[in-house]
Amino acid sequence: MRWRRRRRDADVAAGATIGSVLIVGGGTAGWMTAVALSHKLRHARVEVTLVESEAIGTVGVGEATVPPIRAFNAALGLDEAAFMRPTHATYKLGIEFRDWARRGDRYFHPFGPFGEPIGGVPFHQHWLAAGALAGAFDDYSLAARMAHHGRFAAPGPASPYGYAYQFDAAGYAAYLRGVAEARGVVRVEGRIVDVVRGAGDDLAAVVTDDGRRLAADLFVDCSGFRGLLIAEALGAGWDDWRHWLPCDRAWAMPTERTGPPAPYTRATALDAGWAWRIPLTHRTGNGHVFASDFLSEDAARDSLIALLDAPALAEPRLLRFAAGKRRRQWIGNTVAIGLSAGFLEPLESTSIHLAQVAIERLLDLFPTGDGDPADAAEFDRVMANEYERVRDLIILHYAATERDDTPFFRHVRTMALPDSLAEKLALFRARGVVMPYRHGLFAEPSWLAVYLGQRVRPAGHDPRATGDAAVLAQMRAAIEAEALGMPRHEEVLAR
Ligand SMILES: Cc1cc2nc3c(=O)[nH]c(=O)nc-3n(C[C@H](O)[C@H](O)[C@H](O)COP(=O)(O)OP(=O)(O)OC[C@H]3O[C@@H](n4cnc5c(N)ncnc54)[C@H](O)[C@@H]3O)c2cc1C
Repeated sequence: MRWRRRRRDADVAAGATIGSVLIVGGGTAGWMTAVALSHKLRHARVEVTLVESEAIGTVGVGEATVPPIRAFNAALGLDEAAFMRPTHATYKLGIEFRDWARRGDRYFHPFGPFGEPIGGVPFHQHWLAAGALAGAFDDYSLAARMAHHGRFAAPGPASPYGYAYQFDAAGYAAYLRGVAEARGVVRVEGRIVDVVRGAGDDLAAVVTDDGRRLAADLFVDCSGFRGLLIAEALGAGWDDWRHWLPCDRAWAMPTERTGPPAPYTRATALDAGWAWRIPLTHRTGNGHVFASDFLSEDAARDSLIALLDAPALAEPRLLRFAAGKRRRQWIGNTVAIGLSAGFLEPLESTSIHLAQVAIERLLDLFPTGDGDPADAAEFDRVMANEYERVRDLIILHYAATERDDTPFFRHVRTMALPDSLAEKLALFRARGVVMPYRHGLFAEPSWLAVYLGQRVRPAGHDPRATGDAAVLAQMRAAIEAEALGMPRHEEVLAR
């Protein structure tokens, strides 16, 4: 995980000749876009309007995030305490994976590195060289040990960990709406029933059910899975990834909070998918993501209910989806952001992040009004890269498993992989090398966490690694002491 943002952060100022933007949809993606555009375009005299339909509603899930969201909030001037309270947010140090490589296994994907390089050689090479003497890989991650002990403290600039949030999805969108409206975004209530084409690939307007015609220079499609503009009106095409990620349904069900909220999300592998557990300050979010080719909807609901450890706060809710992305995400004067652009199951909590990246790239490439097709091509290229890299890390959880106890796991462990993942995996299997990406969410520690957590062991290691057991033991002890010296998560939240 890259927990420090690397992008430039310039406001869009004079030069923009786009006078009006219409955001279609008021879910998390729509309101994130509205806050960002109203803030970044404040010197450029761009009118931002958002149209949404209460009758249609939002997807209503999306509660776990990744660290770059902090840079996003900060760049938009959103105060952490003011945002955490109404969204019942907790801090998140990573994800605990249970039962993935084998039943009974546990590992942690932390927001931060494992150990420190020794003699210029990456830490994990020493860990591999030390073999069984080194203990668990997670013991060398401060974030993992903090999570294990239920501790949290805000990191300093040199701290070897980052953090994200777990929050109430409806609360986040509502909070952003308040900020956006205070910054001048106009909200229109209405159901869009027609889309009016302009010249070429451009759209001219959308029409609501009460006959209003909403015109704009630029349209942002945040209409959710259906992709009202990008797919239904513009036929963007679809890259279908269901053969790699067969999970296509989820049951979601909140329960009462039991005990102090943990500073991490849990993902437990089940028979034909997995269950999430996301602790908030006022309740716990639970869900079961599953593949309908391998498990019926009724059986999946029953297995979620059987897992709950506290009274339910609502009836279970079924969501249907497909893994993949729009082949084109920017067509003419329409840009897709959020679920309208694509979806990957929430195993690594990446969907809100992909909306964030799309917003940042839209601002980087904010059109000057001449409709340069190079903008759209560049946006599509960058977003395809982001989606594919997240996709590959998610697939790794399924592909690198030893489980063969259910038809679902027998299927995913033997399926053909995308070339990009097959090549990366081969490099790691040979000598533990993780080739770094220049772009993309997941950096080396994330790949190491998942490779080693999924029991992928390289055939060899860096010959320079000494694997000195005494040095490793000292490092482990220092990390443990530092974690135990931190305040409890619930105390920090109470403050
Ligand atoms: C099971 C599940 C779990 C998830 N968990 C996570 C997670 O842990 N972390 C994470 O980052 N993401 C997660 N996500 C994804 C996350 O929920 C979404 O990325 C996020 O909520 C953004 O959704 P959205 O705004 O694109 O779409 P939506 O919330 O569906 O909003 C669509 C908007 O468009 C409007 N609209 C649609 N049609 C019309 C019309 N005709 N006229 C007017 N308005 C219209 C709707 O009213 C609504 O306002 C999860 C998704 C699923 C399915």
